Amino acid sequence: MKKLGILLCTLTVLAACNEAQQKSEELMEEPTANTEEVTPQEPTKPEETEIWEPIPAKVDPMGQNGAPSDAIVLFDGTNFDAWESANEGGGEVQWVLNGDGSMTVKDKTGDIQTKQSFGSVQLHVEWRSNPDNKATNQNRSNSGVFLQNRYEVQVLDNNDNPTYVNGMVGSIYKQSIPLVMAAKPTGDWNSYDIIFHAPEFDAEGNKTKSGTLTVLLNGVLVQDHFELLGTTEYIGWPKNDAHGPAPIKLQDHGDQSGVKYRNIWVRNL
Ligand code: MG
Repeated sequence: MKKLGILLCTLTVLAACNEAQQKSEELMEEPTANTEEVTPQEPTKPEETEIWEPIPAKVDPMGQNGAPSDAIVLFDGTNFDAWESANEGGGEVQWVLNGDGSMTVKDKTGDIQTKQSFGSVQLHVEWRSNPDNKATNQNRSNSGVFLQNRYEVQVLDNNDNPTYVNGMVGSIYKQSIPLVMAAKPTGDWNSYDIIFHAPEFDAEGNKTKSGTLTVLLNGVLVQDHFELLGTTEYIGWPKNDAHGPAPIKLQDHGDQSGVKYRNIWVRNL
């Protein structure tokens, strides 16, 4: 009887031991399975890192008299169809259409703007300072290219004409000094290639993302993804009132600048 008792007792202890061991193994497995990060194995064949689709659309870079085939041509020298006066009430452009594919700012007739509104864009503009303009500082061939009617990339003749550097050619007016002065001699044609990302606002009108500007002057980087502080004001701080798509504007500085423009095109981003 005593032996049977010992045997039963031993079997009970063994069963309890087994159960405890099983539970312990389960507990050890669970956290490992849930927390272990799966590290992707590094590809060992070249084709494993090749992506074949989607195929980018084909663009002819010179497809429209020098403008890319997918660009919106804003000015090709033949007409002002894409433009209107930026004066209150709008109206026709009063600037001068020249016979050589360019336009000239007509003094004190006001800024001009595109009829179409734009968000983020790639913009190409060519401009020429007036060699007969001998004024100084901000009055020598001053104009400007405004993105969304608010953010000015300065146009100015700074060849032997010093001015405040956050208002010189290639500056984001009163916000960002250009990296270098890359303008051509007065009277030669310059080009601006501008990448603009529009600012974003929430439903309450708060800015949630700053706009940015990258600018190349004659192919030379002068603004490198600059984060706009707000509007480019002549006097006072930058403003950040909510807005949506808006026209591209060219400035009549009102001081007989004589600045010319030609070959203007834009691509929506
Ligand atoms: Mg200006």
